[in-house]
Amino acid sequence: MSKLRFHAIKNSLAYKAVVVEEKKRRSELFGENVFDENTMRQYLTKEANHGVMNAIQHSKKIDRNIADQVASSMRDWALAKGVTHYTHWFQPLTGSTAEKHDAFFETIGHGMAIEKFGGGQLVQQEPDASSFPSGGIRNTFEARGYTAWDPTSPAFIYETTLCIPTIFVAYTGEALDYKTPLLRALHAVDDAATAVCKYFDKNVKKVTSSLGWEQEYFLIDKMLAASRPDIALTGRTLLGHSSAKGQQLDDHYFGSIPSRALNFMKELEVECMLLGIPVKTRHNEVAPNQFELAPIYEEANLAVDHNALLMDIMGRVASRHNFKVLLHEKPFAGVNGSGKHNNWSLSTDTGVNLLKPGKTPMSNLQFLTFFINTIKAVHDNEELLRASIASASNDHRLGANEAPPAIVSVFIGEQLTKVLEELEGVTKGKLSPQEKTDLKLNVVGKIPDVLLDNTDRNRTSPFAFTGNKFEFRAVGALANCGNPMTILNTIVAKQLKDFKVEADALISKKDLKKDEAVFNVIREYIKSSRPILFEGNGYGELWEIEAKKRGLSNNKATPEALKARVSEKSIALFEEMNVMSRIESEARYEIELEAYIKHIQIESRVLGDIARNHIVPTAVKYQNILIENVKGLKDIFEKEFESVSKEQINLIKKISSHIEGINSNVTKMIEERKIANAIKVLGEKADAYYYKVKPLFEDIRYHSDKLELLVDDEIWPLTKYRELLFTR
Ligand code: ADP
Ligand code: MG
Repeated sequence: MSKLRFHAIKNSLAYKAVVVEEKKRRSELFGENVFDENTMRQYLTKEANHGVMNAIQHSKKIDRNIADQVASSMRDWALAKGVTHYTHWFQPLTGSTAEKHDAFFETIGHGMAIEKFGGGQLVQQEPDASSFPSGGIRNTFEARGYTAWDPTSPAFIYETTLCIPTIFVAYTGEALDYKTPLLRALHAVDDAATAVCKYFDKNVKKVTSSLGWEQEYFLIDKMLAASRPDIALTGRTLLGHSSAKGQQLDDHYFGSIPSRALNFMKELEVECMLLGIPVKTRHNEVAPNQFELAPIYEEANLAVDHNALLMDIMGRVASRHNFKVLLHEKPFAGVNGSGKHNNWSLSTDTGVNLLKPGKTPMSNLQFLTFFINTIKAVHDNEELLRASIASASNDHRLGANEAPPAIVSVFIGEQLTKVLEELEGVTKGKLSPQEKTDLKLNVVGKIPDVLLDNTDRNRTSPFAFTGNKFEFRAVGALANCGNPMTILNTIVAKQLKDFKVEADALISKKDLKKDEAVFNVIREYIKSSRPILFEGNGYGELWEIEAKKRGLSNNKATPEALKARVSEKSIALFEEMNVMSRIESEARYEIELEAYIKHIQIESRVLGDIARNHIVPTAVKYQNILIENVKGLKDIFEKEFESVSKEQINLIKKISSHIEGINSNVTKMIEERKIANAIKVLGEKADAYYYKVKPLFEDIRYHSDKLELLVDDEIWPLTKYRELLFTR
């Protein structure tokens, strides 16, 4: 074992777990560091409280006087908790969160100072925005953007800083973050869904979109991770032969959680409690050292913020336990990757989950309306939905025969499939209107019973109905959920809007009763959405062939997938729903392409460096030992020389061929990179990276991984898979 590896492993084994003891109940800790409704009631005047609640519930503007009151109460609350700084906390399109701390501290002359925080500072800030991705929205001469308070997500204290969730927009108004379009999409789905709800219940005034994300991740010893330049710079291993034992024995999944990991989880969960992130579930995942964390679902905007915050906290807490968290979708070849299932549903302010079958035929018709409209929305926009989860790192999961495929389809389970078939068939025979209604209500009325035992789960489906919610499973572990949630809510909003128009037309023109009209429209939707419904194995090649026949897209690579963001259809959709302007759609496309290019470029550079400067010299060293050995054998043996040296000479030749394989491919890769870098059109550049640069990764890795099996373990420089995954 090389010195570096040895020390890393020794260090890891010698590490004494920090034992985390929980002295308080979780429920007591929950929300302690959040300026939430409870805290507001305590700290704010009635007037200010009313102003903020109005903003949260009815999107009303907060006037300056109220903002001043809120700011001063926030400051008092924060100071009492030992806070010194405040920051506008936002989610730029880099994928991580951003903050710039300012102290409350202010001098007032005569050597005196106070702690100050006013409405102005609460409501708006101007961070120097020129270094955040904007996709050409801001020319450099007006490189200004501002952050603006989002009262629907409560302020919180993290590590002695008061964090105020904000949106981030250009001076000209275009969104520069994930949150702004998300808020617009949530507004759109609220409007459209509320209007549809009125068919069933006039009292519904608001529909909220909910999200419960399940975060998968790897925990790797910090020293071991640091010993790998690829993990340090790209978050994944670019090289490394698989370990003899991986996940074959299924002995990790749901197994007992290793104590060091458990202590990490406890501390993380306590932090989450303080910040009001309602984490609930933890367990081992399929791959060794892979785990999952899931909260209780929340309103989507808050859930997105909480997930972004969580990803940040995870890194910090992990560091205190000598771990590095890997959120990359595929840190290790050959074992499971990490995703982030987005459990999604819609619910009314009257307390009804619109994706939960009801107890009466009429409430079931409401359920079916939302259920089928969602399916139709996914059917009509499958390519856009695929684009919403496209990234260089998620490409390793999607379309790589690992859950789920790059083809978007919807799984609804056996029973609901039957229900849809029956519904579709209702009017095929010649029935009198009365019979139609009876039969329809009969079918509709059956749902609650059949769903009770709807436990069948299809793990290969990217979009599955699981009883009272849809689970968008193709989202990457590293992703900001804001993007997929924006797109999902937008397409559903548009679909519900169109549905309402169609149903209204039947009511007024054909004089149908409301439920008859609703029923007739959704029955047609079942027919037209058929191609998206798929209950089989999503991994197999057969599905790819079948999906092609059905006309579904299969965009395996990000550059291809992203095009759907800027199709005329998508641009028009976002404009119609007031979610993104053409400029914003185009900017996002550019930003995501650029991110893709940069990621592959960085990986390519790191890979070239490791292969040339770590692997090849090591192989040469070992080859020289073999050559010395062969020379020695020649001195000792005469007749038998050939037979005793045969294996070594073979090995020398093999090593030479792999060294050659690495060197020639690295040279090729550098050439291709140069060609790609010279391309001006972003889409073509991304294609060049995908089609020309990236395939060489595989070739280089192949030769390096072969060498790993040939070269003396004593001098192998890179920490091996078994060491990364099984050192405990
Ligand atoms: P699993 O899918 O792993 O079996 P669960 O179904 O218990 O796990 O829940 C996974 C996530 O889905 C959790 O975050 C949970 O709070 C969330 N969830 C449950 N019901 C809903 C709902 N109606 N809308 C959105 N998310 C939900
Ligand atoms: Mg799930």
